[in-house]
Amino acid sequence: MTSQAIERVDVFVVKAPLDIPFAFSQGWVHQRAATLVRITTKSGIQGWGEAFAQGLEPPEIAAAAVSHALVPRILGQDALSPSVLWHSMYNQTRDHGRKGSVMSAISAVDIALWDICGKHHGVPINTLLGGAFRQSVQPYATGFYRLNGQGESSRLAEEAIGHKESGFRAMKIKLGFGVRDDIAVMESIAKALDDPSIEIMVDANHAYGRRDAIRLGQALRDFDLRWYEEPVVPEDIEGYAELRRRLDVPIAGGENEHSGYGFNALFRADALDVAQPDLGSCGGFTAAKDILGMAQANGVMVNPHVWGTAIAQAASLQFISAIPVAHHSLFAAEPLLEYDISSHPFRLDLIAEPWQMVNGRVAIPTKPGLGIDINMDTIERYKTHSESFVAS
Ligand code: CA
Repeated sequence: MTSQAIERVDVFVVKAPLDIPFAFSQGWVHQRAATLVRITTKSGIQGWGEAFAQGLEPPEIAAAAVSHALVPRILGQDALSPSVLWHSMYNQTRDHGRKGSVMSAISAVDIALWDICGKHHGVPINTLLGGAFRQSVQPYATGFYRLNGQGESSRLAEEAIGHKESGFRAMKIKLGFGVRDDIAVMESIAKALDDPSIEIMVDANHAYGRRDAIRLGQALRDFDLRWYEEPVVPEDIEGYAELRRRLDVPIAGGENEHSGYGFNALFRADALDVAQPDLGSCGGFTAAKDILGMAQANGVMVNPHVWGTAIAQAASLQFISAIPVAHHSLFAAEPLLEYDISSHPFRLDLIAEPWQMVNGRVAIPTKPGLGIDINMDTIERYKTHSESFVAS
């Protein structure tokens, strides 16, 4: 069979309230949520995709975009043509989409189509992307959320020690709670770790204007950071470029940018050292490979962002394995896996075999497609909304 006609699309909104709400610089997170998409072909192959819901993003927006704008474009079409369908969906939604939840909706469909392609051909998605540069990836711990907001440096230092004892050799500290508080947190963590071999990144979640972002970057000069993430708002592309000119630390960003069109503006402005597309919001694999090609041509490292469910993590793992190093050498910097350690039932319970860190690495799944098996029980348990569409 040389085509896989799309017979059915199911959209699921899942939500899990958090026992203990936590803060990042933009607000309090009270629940983890996602929009999941299951696409079934006429011959019975199923693919899964996810629209990443940012901490403050209602998952119903992407679900509505899938149901109302995208399903009519894909039902009955060939699932083995993800690029053709991506451009059909993008062109259809250009005037009301391009970024945000609509692009996350396109991402969910695109990931599901690539999952189907892999299963149809009997290969993991990284084979379809050109092959695996690596069979495993080093994870970095993403955590350090706040329970009060400010003044938590000693608790955060204890958290850092916990990550080190769990085997993490890299970790990313959430900042953006005021420059003075941020510096106190960093000094406390560095003192507690007392181990320069552990790589540290910082993430301000665009809390600052350029002036404070530069002040913070200068104050952290001696911390030998691997990168400084989202110092300013994603709209301030010239601000990113200015920070790159004025600071020595590599500047990272892109989790709130979308598609090759959006990243093109960042590359043209020399705004990034590290590009961080999220597979679940940048436009899926189809957009991510466009972004990767441009990044490679501009000498920018690609290190995907991922804070979603096990589906988004699986997509991230497949993509990470297919990323060439940006600057080749015997000891080149390899991409890392963002490993969210916050409370998230959709990471541990959604798939039959959750990832594990073994000897400080996470293996890239080798089964066809995304390489995961979904626990429908978990979806039934946390589902707040679902819709099904069948080709007529
Ligand atoms: Ca981030």
